[in-house]
Amino acid sequence: MANKNPLLSQMSSDNSSFVDFIENKLMKIIKAYQEKHSRPVYTMSFGYTSHPLPATAVKAMSDYSLGLGEAETYTSYEPVTGNNELKQALTNRYQQKFTVALDVDEIFITDGAQLICSAIQELFSQDSVIALQDPGYPAFIEGIKLTGRRYLSLPCYEENGFIPKPPKEKVDILCLCFPNNPTGQSATFEQLQAFVDYALENQAVIIFDATYQSFISTENIPRSIYEIEGAKKCAIEISSFSKEASFTGLRVGWCIIPKTLMIKDSKENELHKMWSMQHQIKYWGPSNIAQRGALALLSEEGQQESQAIVDYYLQNAKLLRQGLKSLGLRCFGAVDNPYLWVKVIAEMDEWEFFEYLMHHTGLVGTPGSMFGLAGTGYLRLSAFGSREEIVRAMNNLPASFPDEIG
Ligand code: PLP
Repeated sequence: MANKNPLLSQMSSDNSSFVDFIENKLMKIIKAYQEKHSRPVYTMSFGYTSHPLPATAVKAMSDYSLGLGEAETYTSYEPVTGNNELKQALTNRYQQKFTVALDVDEIFITDGAQLICSAIQELFSQDSVIALQDPGYPAFIEGIKLTGRRYLSLPCYEENGFIPKPPKEKVDILCLCFPNNPTGQSATFEQLQAFVDYALENQAVIIFDATYQSFISTENIPRSIYEIEGAKKCAIEISSFSKEASFTGLRVGWCIIPKTLMIKDSKENELHKMWSMQHQIKYWGPSNIAQRGALALLSEEGQQESQAIVDYYLQNAKLLRQGLKSLGLRCFGAVDNPYLWVKVIAEMDEWEFFEYLMHHTGLVGTPGSMFGLAGTGYLRLSAFGSREEIVRAMNNLPASFPDEIG
């Protein structure tokens, strides 16, 4: 019998998830527009990556796949929390890049970050109150709504530089994502320290989504929550190879649960053990082929190739930002981040602006309210498309908008 979960009706006003909205509603609008107009349309609403995979990962995966067809080199299940070499290579990356010391066991290899954004909430009791950024990555809020937990929003406006302060109220879980999708902002050491201090004082836990950590090149911006003092006692980190190495289709990410992490009534190591149990019962991680590809990414050559991919997307982001700024639009993000957060022209609502931009420039973004109420009045553009398309779109921009921008 179908699970008629009444909470599903809270997902959005028209009962759809974010992915549903993008794949169906938004695509229908674009299609309808294209049927009426012959102008080119550049769809930049999605996080779909376009740059081909790093060659080292491709080779590692093809060699490994061929080996699976031979008796001598065939392998069966990977360890349930992930390939040990991959976990070791990740601890090396944390040590070398962020000066963060992790135990290999503290890392769990996952099939990307998406599932974990909501599944990690299962570690905590049903009456836990959650605070989360608004606007924010939809999987967090959708995960909360599916379970019916109470939550409060931490609004991210231009006035607070899109970085909220810790809540005044007491909450049990804080969901944070930096560099942020969709606003494109990164938090400073001080800003994150305030959240860690809050969590320690209130025996709360931080769920930190660091999916875009490799996009940060500005000095003195933390890339992992564990760069913040005290975070290993109160934070879980989620991250992924999806965007930094175009691994979206391969599905490899990771989740870090320090053994020292404790919340009010838990004992040391308890949350870590509970998450190991979840892996044993439900997940078992990505395919052994994809894990070999991820391992290759962490070789010296793989890291250089991944960096080239990150630079490619960042250059796309820069071109987008320059192009839209030249039209007089107020733009945020797209530095240390592949997303441009564009303020809607004053006298329009965001759907009017969405259509106006599509009509005058061919650019299709995602209206900001799809990421939360406080995102209303903005539009997100993704820089994950191909350079050719971005350049074509920017070359096709008009010199100015026909109407005056308010
Ligand atoms: N978290 C954030 C902030 C994201 O932007 C995304 C994907 O766009 C994800 C998680 C999910 O990523 P993955 O492909 O690793 O599941």
